[in-house]
Amino acid sequence: MIRKLSLNLDNSNTKKAQILLDVLTESKYVINFYIQKYWNFNGKLNINCLKTEYLNCETWFSKRLQQNCAKQALGIVKSIRSNEKRIIQKNLKRKKPKTLPSMPIFNGNNLMLSETNIEIQFGENSFDFWIKFYCLGRKLQILIPTKSYDYLQKYIKSGWILKKSASLNLRNGKLFLDVIFEKEAPQIKVSGKIIGIDIGCNKLVATSEKEFLGTEFKQIVSKLTRKLRGSKSYNKALKERNDYINFELKKLELGNLQTIVLEDLKYVKYKSKLPKFMNNKLQYWVYPKIVNKISQLAEESGVQLTFVNPAFTSQKCIQCGVVDPKNRANELFSCINCQFVEDADFVGSINILQRFLGQENMVPGIKSGDFCNVL
Ligand SMILES: [Zn+2]
Repeated sequence: MIRKLSLNLDNSNTKKAQILLDVLTESKYVINFYIQKYWNFNGKLNINCLKTEYLNCETWFSKRLQQNCAKQALGIVKSIRSNEKRIIQKNLKRKKPKTLPSMPIFNGNNLMLSETNIEIQFGENSFDFWIKFYCLGRKLQILIPTKSYDYLQKYIKSGWILKKSASLNLRNGKLFLDVIFEKEAPQIKVSGKIIGIDIGCNKLVATSEKEFLGTEFKQIVSKLTRKLRGSKSYNKALKERNDYINFELKKLELGNLQTIVLEDLKYVKYKSKLPKFMNNKLQYWVYPKIVNKISQLAEESGVQLTFVNPAFTSQKCIQCGVVDPKNRANELFSCINCQFVEDADFVGSINILQRFLGQENMVPGIKSGDFCNVL
């Protein structure tokens, strides 16, 4: 299992921050220099093939830092080239003319660093935790204390291993170090309960065990929609929303579960239950975030994830099987046929579970072949 964590480098003084900004600026030039070299090698891609040419780049970066830049450049070129093969094959099939991609230009504000340039030092007490950048060139070496100590400690205490490489990033004018933790995944459980989860808009999630998490979700999301995108208060509300998602989902009881059944994201945009204010891109993209968090938690507990087509799961009565959009009025499910009344998100989660188990009543509009089961 791999988890990425962002450590903010706010604790660095202006001088140190300026050095890191200078490094990022210079890295743009150096990475693009190597992209050009690798691009022209056309197919003969090998990290060693440029070794003698490191001297050619006119930069103040140390050889070691240049090596990291070259590796990053190689990664960029390789990904474009492999994409190129796919595009050529696709165009051949469609009998379209051959169009080759042009050389990529690295514009990003991120630099991958290996252990030759970075070290995370742990001390005895909680204030003694530093990020050391060294061997950058110009005899520069800087130490920055980090505030995220508790955050890191939590991972380390539960057996995660901190990888030695990391990446320096500039996001919204702020410097971050993204680090990676690794841990062997537990074995997938072979017994236990199977539950369905409905990711909602009123509540964050409802389970087929009638467990509701994140009941304030709607208010938190609507707070976000009132802010001006990109503003300070927007970013604050965004962080609040994300923290809320993480905090609430951690309450999921996974210990006795074998499988979680979720709606397949591919179909979520067709969900009729989304109210209009949720239907913009901003709200739509929160879905992958929630699914991703659930999938991480499941992975850490050896619980399997399965996805089903969510078509009509919000409109189908779990008592009589009748499908009708009128069955659902926002948070309440009220069957127009048999007058069955229940929480709408809970009904959704039961339908999701039943679809996976193949226990659905036959319903007009859904053929059994429509059920899709990814994973
Ligand atoms: Zn009914």
